[in-house]
Amino acid sequence: MRKIEKIIIHCTATPPESNIGVSEIDAWHKEKGWKGCGYHYVIKRDGEIQKGRRVEEIGAHTKGFNAKSIGIALVGGVDKNGKAKDTKTKKQEESLRALLGELLREFEGAVVLGHRDLDKNKECPSFDVKEWFYA
Ligand SMILES: [Zn+2]
Repeated sequence: MRKIEKIIIHCTATPPESNIGVSEIDAWHKEKGWKGCGYHYVIKRDGEIQKGRRVEEIGAHTKGFNAKSIGIALVGGVDKNGKAKDTKTKKQEESLRALLGELLREFEGAVVLGHRDLDKNKECPSFDVKEWFYA
């Protein structure tokens, strides 16, 4: 197993009414020439947790930080005009907390943060992950 230092939260930059999941993301990421969904987990609007890439495999989600991290994407993150907006649902929050609890038991000492904390040019995932998780 590779070493996991960070668990990085993303959004799919889709509007709230767009009820997509791992199969759509898989298709988009294949279009980019990647080997399918770059995230390890996708959390749908209704809170369903879907598995993307295997955790043992390096993801494709945060430039420069993929080797030692796990990527989780929340479906949503923009308004109907494509502008960054915190659109996460209560169900998504519950699922994310449960998933993070499990992952942190397995990968002790890993830090939870948002994509934008590692790339100042990004707004992803459209909310302050550290404040949400650790406050
Ligand atoms: Zn992101």
